Amino acid sequence: MIAKIKQLLEEVETLKVANAEELEALRIKYLSKKGAINDLMADFRNVAAEQKKEVGMRLNELKTKAQERITALKEQFESQDNGCSEMDLTRSAYPVKLGTRHPLSIVRNEIIDIFGRLGFSIAEGPEIEDDWHVFSALNFAEDHPARDMQDTFFIESHPDILLRTHTSSVQTRVMEVSEPPIRIICPGRVYRNEAISYRAHCFFHQVEALYVDKNVSFTDLKQVLLLFAKEMFGADTKIRLRPSYFPFTEPSAEMDISCNICGGKGCPFCKHTGWVEILGCGMVDPNVLESNGIDSKVYSGYALGMGIERITNLKYQVKDLRMFSENDTRFLKEFEAAN
Ligand SMILES: [Zn+2]
Repeated sequence: MIAKIKQLLEEVETLKVANAEELEALRIKYLSKKGAINDLMADFRNVAAEQKKEVGMRLNELKTKAQERITALKEQFESQDNGCSEMDLTRSAYPVKLGTRHPLSIVRNEIIDIFGRLGFSIAEGPEIEDDWHVFSALNFAEDHPARDMQDTFFIESHPDILLRTHTSSVQTRVMEVSEPPIRIICPGRVYRNEAISYRAHCFFHQVEALYVDKNVSFTDLKQVLLLFAKEMFGADTKIRLRPSYFPFTEPSAEMDISCNICGGKGCPFCKHTGWVEILGCGMVDPNVLESNGIDSKVYSGYALGMGIERITNLKYQVKDLRMFSENDTRFLKEFEAAN
């Protein structure tokens, strides 16, 4: 057996390959499950006890050497190769341009990252939804005027099926199958039947966050909002909350941040107010908790939601919403540095 090991060791040390197939053949010959070295390993139990130590050592040496040699050949081979061995004559002679991450993805990832650090995990749901998850379970009554607040794309033959108008539908989908504590963030695309212009589009992106547990209060919400604003727009950012109305939260508020362009002094961007609106939020309406099978006497929660386009506008001053979906590489390349 020792002679066999010596022979293999010599073979291994002088291995040569011309291409990837040969290299793979050698790997199979020596190192695979049915390879020469494994065969020897299998024979090892037949070795006489007094020889076991020496044979074992040599076997290990052989295995290490074989692995090293094949890795070295692979590296040498790859560095020589540069993709030239399979030359593609149809390929452009000019360097292939690398894409960059879309600005909306950059900002979405940043938002997810901030909330991730606060313990929120991502939840996703379908874009084609039913009335229950988008409206009814979120406290929009049948004849609730709030349903007119959003122009919805309904499927003509199935009036119950629609394209979701907000990612709050994911919150209902999570609540109906989970027990609190629930701490989720839902990023996604939403659709509204709006004429496309520089400031409106028929689809855009949202991120919503939901936290349901015992003793969740508005103070908790405010603290998370302040932390988010500082992380996203800088440590000097101030926030203010204005009372608002949403069917699924009570009380509800809209949050402004101090204008990150003029620092709050007033500029055309903030219409000289020093503040810009960034999101809506509030305490989850007890009716919403009950509709989704959560006892509102035991649990409370807060929810907040924002448009990713809006946040991206504030960070990068993109003046025309349409730019986000036109795939103009001149526009997309401007975000290379942020990738
Ligand atoms: Zn300003």
